[in-house]
Amino acid sequence: MTAPQTALVIGGGIAGPVAATALTMAGIETAVYEARPADPAAANGIGGSLALEPNGLAALRIIGADDAVRASAIPIVRSSMSIASRPGREMPAPQGLPPRQLIDRGVLHGILGERARLAGVPIHHGKKLIGVEEGPDGVTANFADGSSASADVLIGADGVHSVVRGLIDPGAPSARYLNLLGFEGLVDDAHGVIDLVPGSMTFAFGKRAYYLYWKRPDGRIGWGVNLPSPQYFSLREARAVPVDEWLQTLRETYAGDSPGGWLAERTPSETLQAVGGLHIMPPVPHWYRGRMVLVGDAVHAPSNSTGQGASLAVESAIQLARCLRDLPDLPSAFATYERLRRTRVETIAARGARVSHAKAPGPVAQRMMRVMIPLMLKAMNIEKTLGEEQRYTIDWDAPADGVAMSPRSV
Ligand SMILES: Cc1cc2nc3c(=O)[nH]c(=O)nc-3n(C[C@H](O)[C@H](O)[C@H](O)COP(=O)(O)OP(=O)(O)OC[C@H]3O[C@@H](n4cnc5c(N)ncnc54)[C@H](O)[C@@H]3O)c2cc1C
Repeated sequence: MTAPQTALVIGGGIAGPVAATALTMAGIETAVYEARPADPAAANGIGGSLALEPNGLAALRIIGADDAVRASAIPIVRSSMSIASRPGREMPAPQGLPPRQLIDRGVLHGILGERARLAGVPIHHGKKLIGVEEGPDGVTANFADGSSASADVLIGADGVHSVVRGLIDPGAPSARYLNLLGFEGLVDDAHGVIDLVPGSMTFAFGKRAYYLYWKRPDGRIGWGVNLPSPQYFSLREARAVPVDEWLQTLRETYAGDSPGGWLAERTPSETLQAVGGLHIMPPVPHWYRGRMVLVGDAVHAPSNSTGQGASLAVESAIQLARCLRDLPDLPSAFATYERLRRTRVETIAARGARVSHAKAPGPVAQRMMRVMIPLMLKAMNIEKTLGEEQRYTIDWDAPADGVAMSPRSV
């Protein structure tokens, strides 16, 4: 199997358009196939906000998408943590790094899709992958609408419930549901009831559930909810439940929390949206097989408490393109890609798994957290943990063959 000339990318979320743009820059003719319809109404409101860390922005710079993201995002310059309604305690951050950027997911998809189109990548919507056929000369993707497409390589950027992952290895693990459902709402705070400056975000461990809130430039408060729910709801199922029912549940859940109770009471139903169940991906034994390879959440979804899911997806997409550009054949390109990425993504996932346990604490665990978390924050070597995570950069111009790699890109 020689170096690829053409590629199919399955999934047009975050990793997909980034991989396609980088592959095109690398001289590989690439097209994206996305299951969602092209209808912009369907693309809007696809899932609230997400934060990109400095490392994610640095990776986006390689495809020239970082400025557009910054122009549409809220820079988060200060973060604090509040336990059991106590005043937020400022969270230490690595020194000298630019702020994380909070952006609407639909807007981010729009920016990345546009960037890919500008690079010459066709994006086909309404193309749900259902199977593949592999041959000595290429791989063919079959879609639910009866159409198909062929190329030298197929990249599974199809998210946490990836179909490609199962095609690579029918025994691959599935994503693990964290018993938490995500929601996001907006609250008017014209009288400044909540003492927050724009660009600050508070992570709050309430009596029964975790939430986070931030001040927007328009003066409103945005808040994100991690609602404990042993019952799993897909995004479609969660959105089929009348929003007032969810709002009632949120009001009961956060009733004893400040400002969680206030936020739940004042959230107008038209601003509340379900953003889906929260998952993590256990380590995936096989990242590739034959002409197929995985990228993004399909292969390494960490808990959302890391704030790194999207940033890691972007990094992996760029590194995969670099490896396919520089290595002489698919097996060596895929092996180099895995070597560059596996340790980093699994280390970050392990950090996230520890935090996720604290998101739906019982009363005893909550009392312990009040004591333990400030001590942990004090003892934590921020530079060693978050600093290393967030200073990661990729040297796009350096060959990916392991000879001339930038030290931080390993
Ligand atoms: C509530 C919530 C909050 C989050 N907050 C953050 C945050 O603040 N910061 C952060 O970094 N990350 C966050 N994440 C995680 C982040 O959203 C993911 O890590 C990121 O979206 C991964 O990008 P991806 O392209 O790999 O997958 P996705 O964004 O899921 O994109 C996958 C795409 O593939 C398409 N697809 C799926 N199956 C098929 C198929 N069979 N055929 C064709 N197309 C298909 C899907 O329609 C989708 O468009 C959050 C996640 C959730 C649920």
